[in-house]
Amino acid sequence: MRWGDKPYHSLDYEMKQRFGEKVYRLALNGGMTCPNRDGTLGDRGCIFCSQGGSGDFAASAALSVSEQIEQQKKLLLQKRPVRRFIAYFQAYTNTYAPVEYLEKIFTEAIRSPDIAVLSIATRPDCIPDDVLALLDRLNRKIPVWVELGLQTIHERTAAFIRRGYSLSCFDDTVTRLRSCQIEVIAHTILGLPGETEQDMLDTIDYLNQSDIQGVKLQMLHILKGTDLADYYSRTGFYIMNLEEYADLVIRCVEHLSPEIVVHRLTGDGPGSLLIAPEWSARKRSVLNYIHAQFRQQKTWQGRFFRESSAPETLPGKPSCRQHYPKEDTECQTLLQYTN
Ligand code: SF4
Repeated sequence: MRWGDKPYHSLDYEMKQRFGEKVYRLALNGGMTCPNRDGTLGDRGCIFCSQGGSGDFAASAALSVSEQIEQQKKLLLQKRPVRRFIAYFQAYTNTYAPVEYLEKIFTEAIRSPDIAVLSIATRPDCIPDDVLALLDRLNRKIPVWVELGLQTIHERTAAFIRRGYSLSCFDDTVTRLRSCQIEVIAHTILGLPGETEQDMLDTIDYLNQSDIQGVKLQMLHILKGTDLADYYSRTGFYIMNLEEYADLVIRCVEHLSPEIVVHRLTGDGPGSLLIAPEWSARKRSVLNYIHAQFRQQKTWQGRFFRESSAPETLPGKPSCRQHYPKEDTECQTLLQYTN
């Protein structure tokens, strides 16, 4: 097979090509918050986001970055011999702080020679020029990846989930990051309320035309304490079962460019918070099932990829701004769903 033992361009395959061995993520917490939580854009976060800022498996921010790295390494080494790591700042918005602070924690994270990659999860409206310059400098020392929580290209869904920035802002930030040769990974959520399979495939087609290097696909999780949980209890909107999710994720991968690295096919919400879908908690068996379906369907990444399958522009794209003002109509639309 083109990518080792998998029918898609997995992160595992990519890391072995680049570093000659498996590389493992250390989930870190830089102790930052998010403009969607601190009142700048809103104080309730994206409707699916847990109190842990989508970083429920990350280390405690009460520890220094070096201590977090040592703690996470120790946990991994109990299970298997590991030699190279990705320092992954996962929780909340990891560029949402003064550049001096970011320089301190990122420099601390890459100090150890066994850190192969610095990966930073953030929002595209939170990378001002001084932060970009810092990432550019760091990227000259060690590969820097920036993970952007796009979730969907559709503005109506983005308003519903209270994402708080426009698609053109994502595009603009991808261009700026790529001008520094920083690799970009887009996060997408499958199964958002109101989205059809075609909507999700449109997101994949759009990403094919963007200059991104990786993608994370994830089933929508409904977690306790979120506005999505409240919406779910009121409406009982449809949640895919495992078989439907596997079929959908395979369709997405079939449409995905073979050049784009698949960093994730499924996620696992923290068991104590997960309301639905319950099957998603068994990440290993979900992955096994998806892999079995790939084999059964005799299919692979990029099978239906077409170079120019995405529209160059979507109708009604608003212009890029650093943040939406609170009175933005898209945010207003969302209030209909969450109040
Ligand atoms: S941008 Fe990220 S951290 Fe902030 S509310 Fe949304 S999911 Fe949570």
